[in-house]
Amino acid sequence: MEALLVVNAGSSSLKFQVFGIAEAGLTRQIRGQIGGIGTRPRLQAKTADGAVIIDRTYAAEAVRDLPAAIAAAREWLLTLDGFELRAIGHRVVHGGPDYAQPVLIDATVLDRLASYQDLAPLHQPNNLAPIRLAMEINPDVPQVACFDTAFHRGHAEHADCYALPRAFYDQGVRRYGFHGLSYEYIAERLREVAPQAAHGRIIVAHLGSGASMCALRGGRSIESTMGFTALDGLPMGTRPGQLDPGVVLYLIMQKGMSAQTVSNLLYHDAGLKGLSGVSNDMRDLLASDDPHAALAVAHFVYRCVLNAGMLAAALGGIDAFVFTAGVGENSAPIRARIVEGLAWLGAELDPVANEADAAVISTAKSRVVLHVLPTDEELMIARHTLALISTHKA
Ligand code: ADP
Repeated sequence: MEALLVVNAGSSSLKFQVFGIAEAGLTRQIRGQIGGIGTRPRLQAKTADGAVIIDRTYAAEAVRDLPAAIAAAREWLLTLDGFELRAIGHRVVHGGPDYAQPVLIDATVLDRLASYQDLAPLHQPNNLAPIRLAMEINPDVPQVACFDTAFHRGHAEHADCYALPRAFYDQGVRRYGFHGLSYEYIAERLREVAPQAAHGRIIVAHLGSGASMCALRGGRSIESTMGFTALDGLPMGTRPGQLDPGVVLYLIMQKGMSAQTVSNLLYHDAGLKGLSGVSNDMRDLLASDDPHAALAVAHFVYRCVLNAGMLAAALGGIDAFVFTAGVGENSAPIRARIVEGLAWLGAELDPVANEADAAVISTAKSRVVLHVLPTDEELMIARHTLALISTHKA
């Protein structure tokens, strides 16, 4: 079977999926990952229906870093029979100011993507590592980069800029927005499940361990709660979300913290984890009777509601609101509390549908249709990859 490999490489995990290319479209075959890179490496993979096909642990020294993880995953993938690799699609966090679409990768493109490393130092180098390796090992297999920023590149200039001297914008200090592959997938999905509403004014809330919201008009992103980096906007598992930049100055200038220490704080020790002192996982917070856990949940809900208000203003009202990603897809209590805060916009929850994680969780008379839609960033990458290699071949 002809197949596509989708790769999402991070610092502590390498996720991959294999999609078959069939007449009827793409069919997911394998979902796998190597987690615990450098600590407790573990390669796990399942078939599309959930059957475990590999679960192997490694000594920490055996899979010390991302290149070693790529090698281990590759070694296992090569043992699989029946797949003929047609292309590899990669999740690349930053497409910089230039890329508003996925792109077929060649040496020039790779250089340009590497030049965005400063804009996403924690993610971009990891995202590019498997691309470089595959170029060396399989130079004939086309590779496609799909960006988290691309879907937001059509924002109006007044939404895309900060009130800083113009030179900074020209240097790339812009409000890029992230989670674009998720939002693009949801925009496509809405065209299938709610074709009328899909053209309207919609807020999509991607609430996972990273969290943001996107304002869609006519299926296109017009505003995002994230900006220059994925630190802005909503509070997240370990990131604070919107923060007065004066706090950062205070920590560095008055408290003598190094820039690196502040970076670690903002990326790894803040958010739900920092505020609660209990956990970065919403499930743990909801189950805890620690008042700080309750405070972290209340803060999360409050900030979601405030940001929804901001996006509703950008859209001039909303017709639908979509919950997606880990918390959005699975947590009925969090959805219920957010919807309570959207009552002023005319949103009304159907509690039974909400408890059942139904696809529509609003009442018939709600002025805002409330959807719960699972996201699928990997399928989006596979679609883009197939589309690009097909046009390239034609
Ligand atoms: P990532 O950003 O890592 O892709 P996900 O979208 O998978 O994140 O979301 C992971 C998060 O979703 C977990 O950290 C957890 O807080 C949350 N989550 C998953 N299931 C539930 C649930 N049933 N209730 C509350 N939160 C949940």
